[in-house]
Amino acid sequence: MTPSDVTADLRPIRDRIARRNAGHPACLRVVDEVLDSLAVALPHHPDWREHHLIERICEPERQLIFRVPWTDDDGVVQVNRGFRVQFSSALGPYKGGLRFHPSVTLDTVSFLAFEQVLKNALTGMALGAGKGGADFDPKGRSEAEVMRFCQSFMTELHRHLGASTDVPAGDIGVGEREIGWLFGQYKRITGRTESGVLTGKGLDWGGSHVRKEATGFGLVYFAEAMLAERDRSLDGATCVVSGSGNVALHTIAKLQALGATVVACSDSRGTIHDPDGLDLDRLVEIKEVRRGRASEYVDASRGRAEWLEGATPWHLRCDAAFPCATQNELHGDDARALIENGVVLVAEGANMPCTADAVRALVEAGVAYGPGKAANAGGVATSALEMQQNAGRDAWSFETTDRRLREVMDGVHRRCLEAADELGRPGDLLLGANVAGFRTVARATVALGAV
Ligand code: NDP
Repeated sequence: MTPSDVTADLRPIRDRIARRNAGHPACLRVVDEVLDSLAVALPHHPDWREHHLIERICEPERQLIFRVPWTDDDGVVQVNRGFRVQFSSALGPYKGGLRFHPSVTLDTVSFLAFEQVLKNALTGMALGAGKGGADFDPKGRSEAEVMRFCQSFMTELHRHLGASTDVPAGDIGVGEREIGWLFGQYKRITGRTESGVLTGKGLDWGGSHVRKEATGFGLVYFAEAMLAERDRSLDGATCVVSGSGNVALHTIAKLQALGATVVACSDSRGTIHDPDGLDLDRLVEIKEVRRGRASEYVDASRGRAEWLEGATPWHLRCDAAFPCATQNELHGDDARALIENGVVLVAEGANMPCTADAVRALVEAGVAYGPGKAANAGGVATSALEMQQNAGRDAWSFETTDRRLREVMDGVHRRCLEAADELGRPGDLLLGANVAGFRTVARATVALGAV
């Protein structure tokens, strides 16, 4: 069966979902991708039809949209729009990050929340799924303005949260600094310290070792497992990474620790190409300490390093590519350029960074492809470890937490592989991720009844 045939099999369900989500192309793209996989598995799961599980699981439990008023440094009142999509609580409390970026819409948050449903199920850690954010642009705003925005955002959102209800974390534009201001406001409004209500906290106030590094480290552990299936390793590999935020920087750190040379990373304005390998300390100083632009990396002292204005890293020669910036950042032509240049593996640190055309090109060319919902699950998995520590008033060492993260990522990889094997498509991690994740949520949905 070709992908379009299998979608045809589920056409009536797909049409109903499309009608309900008109004007939400990102959400529909994720649904289509999942339906393509579910159609392959459907003959083995007649109960999915019997209990209307596809319709039930593709429908969010709750979508919240709210006004976020705040005052800028000139005393002018600004208004943004906030969102939280509580997609599924079948497996546990809603869990997923908050994104502050001007491009955020209900469509963005819905697609991310639906991806999160399957991702969280794949971790095996009893997590429901949600996602949220606002169309607020933190760039160029003072610390005081970002703090006031966070406080106003939480003033509305707090009534929907709780350590056993809904537990947000960070995402684009939301790091430890913003989590601190959100947590502070939650604590002030509720009058209690409920550590498990947010993850990604600082180490001194309920955070976990490795949470900051988790998505990047987990991505590289997943890539290692993928390459091991092909009797290859990252040692000596040439890699490119997109983005220069949380996920990108920790991906670069772990790749370098494992003996890879990372020759490129980027931001929304262009790409750093450093053929001798990126200097991570310098990058961290620019991006994390000074909150500067990636272009500041390149100056006379940087040897052969160059700044490629407006370019992405996908046209550079590499063995492995790690898109770690944002959705739809790697297109069909980019995939074909990577293939021509000999890429062996593409693993997604970002959510849905490869377009459908790109995924098709990579898979057809036999490139090992790690879909984000599996490959970047380390972030949410370590959030679950943070919740465990909060619940037990405990604090584990870096080594203990990192070991747990690696075990979780090996487990996610194994579940994807096994599901793909069972369906006669060995190595198809996208199929495996969609089916293994869905199957877990489906079982819980049946067990809990029509709620
Ligand atoms: P950050 O805000 O720390 O960094 C985002 C990076 O992506 C920046 O370098 C930014 O560049 C770049 N970027 C953002 N938007 C665009 C765009 N439209 N075009 C090109 N580049 C862009 O975010 P994170 O590192 O936390 O998140 C990155 C990705 O990883 C997202 O897809 C997120 O959903 C996903 N993810 C994050 C997790 C986490 O734990 N943080 C967990 C799982 C997935 P610039 O500064 O120029 O905007």
